[in-house]
Amino acid sequence: ILELKHIYKDYIQGSMVVPVLKDINLQVEKGEYLAIMGPSGSGKSTLMNIVGCLDRATKGEFILDGHMVGGMKDNDLADLRLNTIGFVFQTFQLLPRQTALDNVALPLIYAGVPKAERMKRAAAALDKVGLSDRMNFIPNQLSGGQKQRVAIARAIVNNPEILLADEPTGALDSKSSHQVMELFQKLNDEGVTVVMITHDSHVAQCAKRIVDIFDGEISERDRKEETL
Ligand code: ATP
Ligand code: MG
Repeated sequence: ILELKHIYKDYIQGSMVVPVLKDINLQVEKGEYLAIMGPSGSGKSTLMNIVGCLDRATKGEFILDGHMVGGMKDNDLADLRLNTIGFVFQTFQLLPRQTALDNVALPLIYAGVPKAERMKRAAAALDKVGLSDRMNFIPNQLSGGQKQRVAIARAIVNNPEILLADEPTGALDSKSSHQVMELFQKLNDEGVTVVMITHDSHVAQCAKRIVDIFDGEISERDRKEETL
């Protein structure tokens, strides 16, 4: 469902060119559950932003759901992103003055879904993450784990093929992390492709496949070797 071929990413800082991703090759099939692990500064979020079409590669080819992203116009890319990808972030990124329901319904506004339908689908997504009793709470009235589950409901409300998560448990205690991991597993069981970035090797073990990123280069882990 996504393929990165010889992807490079440089950042320009003043007159300096800072290479961050170096010849990344990665293929993810539909329905996979992949974790990307690596130390701080290794390029994980940079990679995530490219895969999520929030940023573009400096060099290389990125194919998302059959589309060659490199040649796409910004508008078309935004549409592709909206229809294909749901995002979950470490710090939830909820709108503080809006209820859980309105936060979850937000992507549907961009997708042009009429209001009644938006509310219905947002309520169903909140039900799916076990928060139908918190629909009218604002983020401040929710625990960290509940906030992240609202964010997951928002990420899936548009039925994306891919769920992209950048340190989804980074701000959570172990019980809430566990709930989030159960939810990811459930979504993956239902056919959603999950790509998750994490520092935490316990969290990474929830995935079916792990790749390591170190100083902008990735390497595949052999899971069989690991269990020996
Ligand atoms: P962390 O685990 O701390 O979130 P990360 O693996 O996600 O780290 P990135 O955020 O991808 O790391 O950053 C990788 C490198 O790229 C870092 O050295 C960082 O300073 C640099 N970098 C990231 N964003 C920019 C930017 N917009 N401009 C310049 N340099 C950047
Ligand atoms: Mg990061």
